[in-house]
Amino acid sequence: MTESHDRDAPLLSVITPAFNEEANLEEFYRQTADCLDTAGLTWEIVMVDDGSRDATHEVIDRLHRRDARVRGVSFARNFGNQVAVSAGLAMARGEAVVIIDADLQHPIELIPKMVEAWREGYQIVNTVRRYGDKAPFLKRLLSFIFYKVMNSLSGTKIEAAAPDFKLLDRCVVDLLVQLPERTRYFKALIPWLGFRQTSIPFDCKERYAGTSSFNFLRLAELALDGIISFSTKPLRAIIFLGTLVLLVTVPYGGWALFQFLFLGAKTPGWTSIILVNLLLGGATLISLGILGEYIGRIYNEVKQRPLYTVKKVWGADEKQVVQAAFPHERGKNDSAGL
Ligand code: UDP
Ligand code: MG
Repeated sequence: MTESHDRDAPLLSVITPAFNEEANLEEFYRQTADCLDTAGLTWEIVMVDDGSRDATHEVIDRLHRRDARVRGVSFARNFGNQVAVSAGLAMARGEAVVIIDADLQHPIELIPKMVEAWREGYQIVNTVRRYGDKAPFLKRLLSFIFYKVMNSLSGTKIEAAAPDFKLLDRCVVDLLVQLPERTRYFKALIPWLGFRQTSIPFDCKERYAGTSSFNFLRLAELALDGIISFSTKPLRAIIFLGTLVLLVTVPYGGWALFQFLFLGAKTPGWTSIILVNLLLGGATLISLGILGEYIGRIYNEVKQRPLYTVKKVWGADEKQVVQAAFPHERGKNDSAGL
């Protein structure tokens, strides 16, 4: 047990980010409670309403009144799934913490098996989707390319078919909660931490109700966050690109000068000028864009704004949950397990 852990805390915390999940949470609660009670575990569910525009907030309120083992927080606006998971991790009090989607796509009946693996001594229990992914071909292709790029850039091995459905030991959760950075990409962060890990395969189900909130643009943004927060290699690539361009343009410039001085100026080739301009213009803009992405992220980090803003808290001290949104303060007053 860690020092921050209180005695009445349950063994297991199940945290679930929820964005517009009014139609799923009741069923999610029913199945989870059923499954975990049958398995004889002591547990709590931490529901994080990520600024939903539907009645998610009311459903959590109702569930909390009915069963105090349901705790949660409601954000004042949408902050994104990774931030919601961060808030859940900060509130979780269990010795083991499971992160799971609220839409019932992840099989709840796998949780007792994950707990078993944890009891065998694994500090991180990942899950891997079995093949037969029903995603459209283009999505699968892009995701394949992304993981190839990500893995070669970041130096950590990220499993393509592994969702955020994981069990984490208290020591891992404490570490994650104390990370001061704002851009959180758990898929890469968790393998980066190390620890004893294992994977359990599962079959992904259809959503119970509602629609997915991850379209191409949001997935692309997440992918960019992942690459940029885990690697500075794109910056180095700019240097190589610049060197390559110089290697080509310097001899060509020399040749043009030689022609001008000794062979007499001819009408300059319009096509070559346009080509060189386009090439250099394109390379410069891409390089500026890459630089901008890093600078933007540095800017976001130094502003030290809170990770999220809180509208309502169930089953925890509101002040502490608000405080936990300031990750740079975290090292000073350890607030894991509110
Ligand atoms: N989610 C969230 N904030 C968001 C988008 C999604 O907390 O801005 C939650 C959502 O409620 C669900 C999980 O993250 O529990 C996964 O989202 P979704 O099912 O939309 O994604 P998909 O399963 O299609 O990848
Ligand atoms: Mg889903």
